[in-house]
Amino acid sequence: MNISHIEHIGIAVSNLEESIHYYEEILGLKCYAIEEVVDQKVKTAFFLVGTTKIELLESTSPEGPIGKFITKKGQGIHHIAFAVNNATEALKLAKKRGVTLVDNQSRKGAEGLNIGFLHPKSTHGVLTELCSKQE
Ligand code: ZN
Repeated sequence: MNISHIEHIGIAVSNLEESIHYYEEILGLKCYAIEEVVDQKVKTAFFLVGTTKIELLESTSPEGPIGKFITKKGQGIHHIAFAVNNATEALKLAKKRGVTLVDNQSRKGAEGLNIGFLHPKSTHGVLTELCSKQE
């Protein structure tokens, strides 16, 4: 799998602007990018903490995955993302090792990364993302 580090922690928020305010004004971090991922129905905001990012996720639709998550569980940590060499290969390997995948193939996520999710029922409750810079 070759995980090198925690690429980011995804946090579901109900209001991106208010959450950015907290991370900037209270924690003193700097939001360096805001990006909408249309097919995931989210608006994201990124902060860098060492080599790990915080990815805030605000749903643009109650029908999107983050919208559903917030309805069910409220705001909070949504997923953890590990950086791997090759997300496609890492997904295949996870599948071979018996993990249920959310994404059978990697796809484009925020920041142009190739990403894919492992299902929380196979990961002891943590929605897990694998991401890589290359395919
Ligand atoms: Zn993510």
